[in-house]
Amino acid sequence: MSENSPVVGILALQGDVREHQLALAGCGMCSTLVRRREELAEVDALILPGGESTTMARLLVTFDLMEPLRARLIEGMPAYGSCAGLILLSREILDGRPDQRQLPVLDVVVRRNAFGRQVASFEADLNFVGVSGGPVRAVFIRAPWVEQAGSGVEVLARVPEVPAAGSAAGRIVAIRQGPVLATSFHPELTGDRRVHQLFCEMVQESRGVQVSARTCR
Ligand code: GLN
Repeated sequence: MSENSPVVGILALQGDVREHQLALAGCGMCSTLVRRREELAEVDALILPGGESTTMARLLVTFDLMEPLRARLIEGMPAYGSCAGLILLSREILDGRPDQRQLPVLDVVVRRNAFGRQVASFEADLNFVGVSGGPVRAVFIRAPWVEQAGSGVEVLARVPEVPAAGSAAGRIVAIRQGPVLATSFHPELTGDRRVHQLFCEMVQESRGVQVSARTCR
């Protein structure tokens, strides 16, 4: 782990890695790609990007990262999972594959592809607890939602109860449990950096340093 400025790793096995890199850069946060155990050991926090959760889980095993990552998460490393990342971090997956592996640090039950299958994408403006400056535009792509959340889980956003939302109305789509943040949607795709900013603040809090005091190595 770094001694000076925190470094956020982005799990770079599959998925929209580049978009998270740009979002972190937009927040003034140092980032690095993580594909190997040694790289994981060097980071202060990790983003698990959107992509395909069963593929990512398989690659975590192939790259010998599943157990070290689980250990870092249990130790309290801050993490942010978007979409497939949320699925990987959840205790239980509905509509998952029978052999699907995960890193169960979030006390939630998620439903994969909950908004519909294959082509289904959906957008909505969400009120997001802890994010000021108006609603967050959320892009959902074959997204999961959270069907059940344990008492230690803070619900940060739900799909608005509007007719266009159909069966998604009121569903939980952003949560936090301790140092772990997760969203069903992809803030890295919209250019709005506020959700990444929230995560960067969580990373700073866990390190007890000020954003302005940092310099990237
Ligand atoms: N449906 C994908 C999965 O099950 C997640 C989609 C995404 O990350 N955009 O992993």
